[in-house]
Amino acid sequence: MVASWASWLRGMIIVSACLLGFRCRYDGLSKPCERVIELVRLTPVITICPEQDGGLPTPRVPCEIIGGDGRDVLAGKARVISETGEDRTAAYLAGAGRALEAARRCGATRAFLKDGSPSCGCRRLVRDGQEVSGMGVCAALLEKEGLEIIAF
Ligand code: SF4
Repeated sequence: MVASWASWLRGMIIVSACLLGFRCRYDGLSKPCERVIELVRLTPVITICPEQDGGLPTPRVPCEIIGGDGRDVLAGKARVISETGEDRTAAYLAGAGRALEAARRCGATRAFLKDGSPSCGCRRLVRDGQEVSGMGVCAALLEKEGLEIIAF
């Protein structure tokens, strides 16, 4: 497994911090992924948490994208709304922007992101307790700017 990772890896990689065990999720917990933890032993990475980096606290009230997915938020057609009804769109956009800045600064071309999140979700989101297809705000921005997005 290490050999196959090593031959595939090149350049700096952006990684969702919760995948590495940082307790930055909305509930104050992490979502460690052994494959990603193995990765950081092989290549330099930049960790991001777009929700914290956008100014939201931990723990925080969870949010959902209403009216579309992250691509629609970037286009101004959807909003990120907390479970208690606050509009958190600005914080999500700010955090995504900071992730993009970090990617540009270090020349990253790939991002390993935690699927299912309204920020980092790559293929799926959660809406009304159900999984739906779509991307989070940060994943959508990084993809739009040319990064390869890999879901974990
Ligand atoms: Fe932070 Fe992304 Fe992990 Fe959510 S999924 S806790 S925004 S790094």
